[in-house]
Amino acid sequence: MSLLVVGSVAYDSIKTPFGEEKRALGGSATYFSLAASFFTAPALVAVVGEDFLADDEKLFSDHGIDISGLQRAAGKTFAWGGEYSFDLNSRTSLFTELNVFENFKPILLPAHKEAEYVFLANIHPSLQKEVLTQIKKPRLVGLDTMNYWIENAPHELAEILKLVNVLVINDSEARELTKEHNLLKAAKKILAMMPAEESTLIIKRGEYGLLMLSQAFPKSEDSKDNMTIFNLPGYPLEDVVDPTGAGDSFAGGLFGYLAQTHNISWENLKKACVAGSIMGSFCVEKMGTKRLVNLTRDEIEERIKNFKKLTHFEA
Ligand code: AMP
Repeated sequence: MSLLVVGSVAYDSIKTPFGEEKRALGGSATYFSLAASFFTAPALVAVVGEDFLADDEKLFSDHGIDISGLQRAAGKTFAWGGEYSFDLNSRTSLFTELNVFENFKPILLPAHKEAEYVFLANIHPSLQKEVLTQIKKPRLVGLDTMNYWIENAPHELAEILKLVNVLVINDSEARELTKEHNLLKAAKKILAMMPAEESTLIIKRGEYGLLMLSQAFPKSEDSKDNMTIFNLPGYPLEDVVDPTGAGDSFAGGLFGYLAQTHNISWENLKKACVAGSIMGSFCVEKMGTKRLVNLTRDEIEERIKNFKKLTHFEA
């Protein structure tokens, strides 16, 4: 096992202009591990309550995900509700019920402490830190967060940011975190909160794609003023039904690809961004996890080839 994720496993209630789901399997670690499972066999650390269904547990195992770190505690599973605007670009969190996460103490199994690739998916920053401090020698540490933690745990978030190599957040979170509208200026401020010369920031821009900025590769041909930048468009899609989990699926594809190829060069990070974008693009085509659970490797390969054609040009 070389990829470990800690995050939420949830029951989501989602309303989009194109569909509605009540108490569907969701959570940041769920989307992450499902997406990553197409590249490697990830291990998941999270907690669920007594109401967690056996079928949902089986779904993880069926995808080769190691759930020996999935604890079951007295109480109810974390529950989240969200509603999207007509253009699907903005979302309101209707409720966040932490439930079993309130008293969760992640204790890693010996095999999990050896993980080389670690992703701290969206969850309370102090839980992210508790997990990270137990890992013996991580090669690459990634982190995701959201407005809820930027507002409710800013100091804990600032602490953990000093320990991560790859931060994956969306554009509105980058603006909220830095109080800076311009994304390049916001990126510089965020990179300054991360370990000097070792940090990479990926700003997700929804349907418009992503910006990856780094201080870790000053000698790359894409670098200027010690900042290396990569800009990837979104994969154009006709059917977008539910954006929930797109960011986590992106991160799962990104880290799954990096763990599979075992290469953290700038050029490979770019390819990993493509793998992540493709996983995010599948995720949004159906409600909840429905598209990811029925996805095939051939469909992924096909979309990667298409993406290459769509973005290639001769200067
Ligand atoms: P995304 O659409 O990628 O931002 O992720 C949505 C997922 O994050 C949903 O499945 C939720 O269950 C989960 N989620 C929402 N709020 C939180 C939170 N405060 N902490 C952890 N996970 C959350």
